[in-house]
Amino acid sequence: MSITIDTSKCTGCGKCIRVCPGTLLYKDKNGKAESRYPRDCWGCTACLKECLYGAVSYFLGADIGGMGSTLHTKRDGHFLHWHIAGAEGEERVITINQKESNKY
Ligand code: SF4
Ligand code: SF4
Repeated sequence: MSITIDTSKCTGCGKCIRVCPGTLLYKDKNGKAESRYPRDCWGCTACLKECLYGAVSYFLGADIGGMGSTLHTKRDGHFLHWHIAGAEGEERVITINQKESNKY
């Protein structure tokens, strides 16, 4: 499991760095987030959920999203959109209303 960070989208806010339970993320010399130990990532997705800029993508396995697919999030108020991008460019979106996710 591992993530990748698109430095062209990263603002250097540091939120992903603060939430990573494995202390795997750091700032590079340009102040952008980088994953220094990608092999140690256990896929908790905390960094994806924190990034407001869609800069963090998570590599899905062949048995989940299909070989070469990735996952990233976009936030819209209480709604968190999980974007699953397939290797061929197709995209699926799952939307969670976080205000109601603990309701039941
Ligand atoms: S949360 Fe997103 S924008 Fe902020 S430092 Fe991490 S990757 Fe960059
Ligand atoms: S998915 Fe979890 S363990 Fe992996 S880099 Fe992100 S916050 Fe750290």
